[in-house]
Amino acid sequence: MTLLDGKKTSEAILQEIAHEVQAIKANGGKVPHLAAVLVGNDGGSVTYVNNKVLACDRIGFGSSLIRYEDTVTEQELLQKIQELNEDDNVDGFIVQLPLPKHINAEKVIESIDPRKDVDGFHPTNVGRMVAGLNAYLPATPAGILQLLQRYDIQTSGKHCVVIGRSNIVGSPMSILMSKAAYPGNATVTLCHRNTNNLAYHTRQADIIISAVGIPGLVTADMVKDGAVVIDVGTTRVQDASRKSGYRLRGDVDFDAVAPKCSFITPVPGGVGPLTIAMLMQNTLRAAKKEVYG
Ligand code: ADP
Repeated sequence: MTLLDGKKTSEAILQEIAHEVQAIKANGGKVPHLAAVLVGNDGGSVTYVNNKVLACDRIGFGSSLIRYEDTVTEQELLQKIQELNEDDNVDGFIVQLPLPKHINAEKVIESIDPRKDVDGFHPTNVGRMVAGLNAYLPATPAGILQLLQRYDIQTSGKHCVVIGRSNIVGSPMSILMSKAAYPGNATVTLCHRNTNNLAYHTRQADIIISAVGIPGLVTADMVKDGAVVIDVGTTRVQDASRKSGYRLRGDVDFDAVAPKCSFITPVPGGVGPLTIAMLMQNTLRAAKKEVYG
């Protein structure tokens, strides 16, 4: 059994990007710039955005953080997005989700210029991905593709069972794994909360990708010997022995499942660390105008 080390992989990718930024600078080019819009003070969102800004600093990107109270109006937010769309210094930007209820998140996402939509959430990028065109891929599925690729995991002709159909993880993952590409060329089954007999499907899987948010959903009896298991779940569960009072648990019953696997991601330290690296990669691609020319 091999552990898929997301931390190490993420560090390697960030190093590669940092080298490229140095080369851009040396050639007198424009340093990539990522802007992040954060609404409110939700602890998780504040941490995520701060980590994104820190990553920019580390690899030599420019960054700007635009913060609003959660009383900001939709109009004010749309106005800022318009400014960012038009700002030539900003190569890409993100609006950290979730947004407060009085703001229509779909409208906000649709107002982002697809050429700067480095989260890959705009319907134009989603559509381009489905059509097999060059697009910004959402960070989590892109990170999983990187893990499969960098550990040289075979996917062609394999049966891949994706659990969860969210717009940002499960659904795009199922589409990408079915594409005529590497990683891809898999036969894909997409399971979700209405799936009858989840175990029947997962037992046939060569590759299981779970993005549900139910700790311990995937048990050892659901996994075939030699399977590749990718766990996207990160749920906080109470743990009195930790200073924070909680720990993160994945969808997979790791201790029981790991011995059966050829490859498996730990939680934390698996898919999670790759998401920031993928955001940085999308920002670099935006600066290089690789997707839309
Ligand atoms: P994420 O953003 O990490 O993908 P979401 O909470 O948006 O997570 O999505 C959770 C997904 O998990 C949904 O698509 C839902 O259908 C799926 N799901 C929820 N419960 C089950 C279950 N018991 N079995 C299989 N899939 C489930």
